[in-house]
Amino acid sequence: MAMRHPRLNSLSNAACADGDHCHENELVHRCASKALQRLRACLLLFCFAGMAGQVHPAESTRQELVRDNRVLEIHISTHFSENMRQNLVEWLNFIATSLQQVYGHWPRQRWQISVTPTSAGSADPIPWAQVHRGEPDRVEFFTAARASVAELKRAWTSYHELAHLLIPYRGYGDAWFSEGLASYYQNILQARSGVITEQQMWQKLYDGYQRGLADTAFDGVALQEASKRMRQQGGFMRVYWSGAWYFLAADARLRQQSGGKYTLDMALEKLNGCCADQQLSVVEIVSRLDQLNRVILFQGLYEELVNSTSIPPYEPIYASLGIALDNGKVVLQSSGPGARLRQQIASGKTL
Ligand SMILES: [Zn+2]
Repeated sequence: MAMRHPRLNSLSNAACADGDHCHENELVHRCASKALQRLRACLLLFCFAGMAGQVHPAESTRQELVRDNRVLEIHISTHFSENMRQNLVEWLNFIATSLQQVYGHWPRQRWQISVTPTSAGSADPIPWAQVHRGEPDRVEFFTAARASVAELKRAWTSYHELAHLLIPYRGYGDAWFSEGLASYYQNILQARSGVITEQQMWQKLYDGYQRGLADTAFDGVALQEASKRMRQQGGFMRVYWSGAWYFLAADARLRQQSGGKYTLDMALEKLNGCCADQQLSVVEIVSRLDQLNRVILFQGLYEELVNSTSIPPYEPIYASLGIALDNGKVVLQSSGPGARLRQQIASGKTL
């Protein structure tokens, strides 16, 4: 398996920061260490060619979680100890619940998660993960051989990967959109699961936008072009956090225009309801989102973003949600309509 590749083993020791190390190609979405990121797609494709296939039953135990008639198949490598397998099952239950909370059910009728140990001595309990879009969708985690349930729950990677499943994305083109969705929702899922506080959630989003603004790899270049060239030339933070801006902007506008009755969760759930078994391009997705939700929002924002040459200002959105900034620290207002909408984003509750 891939994690036995010597160069991957040595490279995956690097520490990771939130949302800092994901890749996209035509088959799969992958997350790896920052050091690995520098090797770019050619090495990734070399190392992982052919990995998008099936789980090997002989090397893993299989069990099913069934909720609301939807099935999650869990494949856990037999190379884990019995104790670690128990930890993994408890953790997978937890993160699967965090995904379930967005729509009230999982996005697909049947999906899979597989977990394999990595021999790398990383401080990160989940140094590597990737999403395979197909029939069924499969999320593949490579974890430390030993980790506590608490350590696994605190690792943001899993929330990021599961968030990718919220849309029926075909897995290539407009990477900023898919990565932005995952970067936005990874924080929401953690806050709604109680892994981080609401304050931490808005701080992490703020820190992400700052990293995006500090990423000068594609200064003056339109996002669409930067997104296309990202795997070869970097600029990951600009691309990811421009996308996260898109989803924050859309979520805030939906809530503000409806007085809190309508949300991005609901808008995406409608898309999921009609098209979860399809593999749509981003252009198709934004068009359907507007049609299904009877709004004029997603396409217009899409046009704005693909032509943007840096991350648009997030401060006005923060201010409209009752978030002030003080020397790089977010300050949450406790009352007012903006504060109420903001709290609802973090809690998942609506009017
Ligand atoms: Zn991602």
